[in-house]
Amino acid sequence: MKILEERIKSEGLVLPDNILKVDRFLNHQIDPKLMDQIGAEFAKLFKNDRITRILTVESSGIAPAVFAGLHLGVPVVFARKHKSLTHNSNVYSADVYSYTKQVTNQISIDERFVNANDRVLIIDDFLANGQAVLGLLKIINDAGAMACGVGIVIEKSFQDGHKLITDRGIKLESLARIKSLSGNQVTFVK
Ligand code: 5GP
Repeated sequence: MKILEERIKSEGLVLPDNILKVDRFLNHQIDPKLMDQIGAEFAKLFKNDRITRILTVESSGIAPAVFAGLHLGVPVVFARKHKSLTHNSNVYSADVYSYTKQVTNQISIDERFVNANDRVLIIDDFLANGQAVLGLLKIINDAGAMACGVGIVIEKSFQDGHKLITDRGIKLESLARIKSLSGNQVTFVK
């Protein structure tokens, strides 16, 4: 997605350890107009997959997921990383190791919000080593639902996540694919 690549080029900051900071439009401040375009693009890419629900992980997956849900006309559920006082105990859960924070979080989704009839699209902000997506795939599997696709805003294609997902035969669409962040430079996959 050209407009997204341009925003990454002009506003992204490369940090040590292959981390890309995009807090001007995605990870802290959010650009609703860009999110709307991202949501429309995901809807176009998954329009024939008969999606009934979108799953993501709080917090940075929520914005692109909501706009994708708006354009596809389906509800969006975000997995919680922390237990909520109002959250009941009937949850599906998975352990997810965070590449950026270097901690393991248990993510969970209330059983009422994903079920065996669902055709699920997973949306997330970044794909690095694929741990967040694998956690959501476990939850979808535990619920007896079907994982019909994964939509990623920014994929770091030099890390393991892409292969982990496509090796499972799951459709993966990433709107920007980064080949390298070396030398503080963002290079995209052609
Ligand atoms: P994974 O589970 O694929 O290893 O990592 C995905 C999660 O880690 C994303 O949801 C995102 O929150 C975070 N993440 C991984 N790499 C980056 C990065 O380069 N920049 C930012 N801002 N977040 C990242």
